[in-house]
Amino acid sequence: MMPKGFRKMSEGEVKPFASLKAESYRALCNRAALYLEEYGIDDAGIDAALLMEYVYGVDRRSFLLRGEEEADPDKFDEYSCLLYKRARRIPLQHLTGVQNFMGLDFEVSEDVLIPRQDTEILVEEVLKDNISSASVLDLCTGSGCILISLMHYASSVRGTGVDLSEAALRMAEKNASALCPECEDRLIWICADLYEGVDGKYDYIVSNPPYIASDVISDLMEEVRDHDPLMALDGGKDGLDFYRRIIEGAARHLNPEGKIYLEIGFDQGESVAALLEKAGFTDICVVKDYNGLDRVVKASCV
Ligand code: GLN
Repeated sequence: MMPKGFRKMSEGEVKPFASLKAESYRALCNRAALYLEEYGIDDAGIDAALLMEYVYGVDRRSFLLRGEEEADPDKFDEYSCLLYKRARRIPLQHLTGVQNFMGLDFEVSEDVLIPRQDTEILVEEVLKDNISSASVLDLCTGSGCILISLMHYASSVRGTGVDLSEAALRMAEKNASALCPECEDRLIWICADLYEGVDGKYDYIVSNPPYIASDVISDLMEEVRDHDPLMALDGGKDGLDFYRRIIEGAARHLNPEGKIYLEIGFDQGESVAALLEKAGFTDICVVKDYNGLDRVVKASCV
């Protein structure tokens, strides 16, 4: 078996996933997993199975009953085409159009950062506070995953989501109507550069801003580098540009005793905490993710 991520194929080298006569779901899925593995896709087996579920509606559990059944030949071309795209490093989420986040299925496209499981830590931290009826400002909202989850799980929250990309905001709006229709009249979307165009004060500011240092972007996995929006990744020379601007404007947009929660890269805890301290924030705390890495910084306004 090839080690994970070992081979890096260039575009021309990917061969189509060949058709065989009369194959069971199980055999087809195993063959698809080997195909993706050959092209160095991490979690090849999982991706082959999820694409099978997407195309044929046969999930891994129904394999027990249907695994030996002949796979529907009419759907082979679609499955084969998606496998080929996945082998070419198109993220699975762009093929299925969804990413689950906090138990909710968010629609995604190339216009928004695919929600990451790491970001659930931020949402869970905020939800530990009693945020019912609170007002929340989500900067760089992207798919809206942070704000919509908060509004879905806490009652009566009033939310404002800000993003510089109109296309991203359209996606966020679509996600809100699908996942939290009852909160639409408490939700505003603003197309702006951070606080520009944001009036008033909030109880919470939350953000997962772009935080990758510009010169590291070319080293990212192809799926991320070539398919997540660059503007959702690039945090400037040292990756901290957005934190500086968000923290600088935070006190003006927070109510007394308001709180700020920021997702950070694993090596940015100290720097972001220092920026918050310099801006006069108190109760500064760095929260780790399940891998033991720094993931969120939270702080209070005096
Ligand atoms: N808030 C969105 C997320 O966490 C988008 C973040 C971004 O575009 N940097 O997925």
